[in-house]
Amino acid sequence: MRLNGKTALITGAASGLGKEIAQRYAAEGAKVCIADMNIEAGRIVADEIGVAGGVAMAVEMNVTDEEAVNAGVAATVDAFGTVDILVSNAGNQHIAPLTDLEFADWKRLLAIHLDGAFLTTKACMRQMKAAGNGGSILLMGSAHSKVASALKAPYVTAKHGLLGLARVVAIEGAAYGVRSNVICPGFVRTPLVEKQIPEQASTLGITEEQVISDVMLKDTVDGEFTTLEDIGDTAIFLAAFPSNALTGQSVVVSHGWYVE
Ligand code: NAD
Repeated sequence: MRLNGKTALITGAASGLGKEIAQRYAAEGAKVCIADMNIEAGRIVADEIGVAGGVAMAVEMNVTDEEAVNAGVAATVDAFGTVDILVSNAGNQHIAPLTDLEFADWKRLLAIHLDGAFLTTKACMRQMKAAGNGGSILLMGSAHSKVASALKAPYVTAKHGLLGLARVVAIEGAAYGVRSNVICPGFVRTPLVEKQIPEQASTLGITEEQVISDVMLKDTVDGEFTTLEDIGDTAIFLAAFPSNALTGQSVVVSHGWYVE
C-alpha cells in the first residue's frame, strides 16, 4: 500500500489512462477524486473503485474552466481533508495538417492541455502549500513532449509546453515540499488512440494496420504498444517517491520510441 493515507485528484479519470491511475492509486490505499467533464462516466469509475474496496468520489470538472477547477479541488478537500497528489491528465487529440488546422481547434487543444494543467496545478499547489505536507504534481505529457509527428501540431506543442511547466513547479514548489514530474507515454490503446487510427488512415490514405505499424509503432524498439499497466506503474512510482531528489523530470515510457 504505497499511497496509504494520501489523497489524489486525477483529471480525465473517467476513461483511459486517468481511470487506470485512479484504480491503481485506490488499490495502493489513496483516496481518489475522479475529476472529469464526463461526470456520468466519472461516477461509474468511482462506484467501481468503491465496490473493489477503495475510497473514491467524482466531481464534474472542465479543466479549462477556472471556477470548475477551484470548486472541484475545494470539494475534494472538503471530502478528504487535503490533496497530496495531482495527476493532470485530461486531454484530447486533433488530427489535421497544419495548413488546414482551424485556429479554434488549435486554441481548444492548447486550452485542454496547458490551461488545464496550469489551473489544476495552481489550485492544488495552493492547497499543498497551505496544508504544509508537501505533495506530488504529475503532468501527463507524451512521447510527443520529446518528438514531433505530422498532423498533430497543437498536441505536440502543448505536450512540449508541459515540460516547462513541470520544471517551474519543481523549482517554486521545493520550498514547501512539492515535487513535479511529467509522464511521457508512447501509444496506449485508449479511446483517444482508437479514435485516431481511422482518422489518420483517412488523412494519410493508408490502411489502419499501416497506421499502427508504419506510424504509431514505427520507431519503437519492439513494435509494441505501451500498456495501461505500464503507465499505472510509473504513476505510482512517481507519486510515492519519498523526496525532492526526483523532481522537474520527465519519464518516457514508450518502448524506446524516444531514447534519451
Ligand atoms: P481518453 O480519451 O481515454 O480519456 C480522456 C479523458 O479526459 C476523458 O474521460 C474525457 O472526458 C476527459 N476530458 C477531456 N477533456 C476534458 C476537459 N476539458 N476537462 C475534463 N476532462 C476532460 O484519453 P487517454 O488516452 O486516457 O489520454 C489521457 C491523457 O494521456 C491525455 O493527456 C493524453 O494526451 C495522454 N496521452 C495518451 C496517450 C495514449 O496513447 N493513449 C499517449 C501519450 C499521452
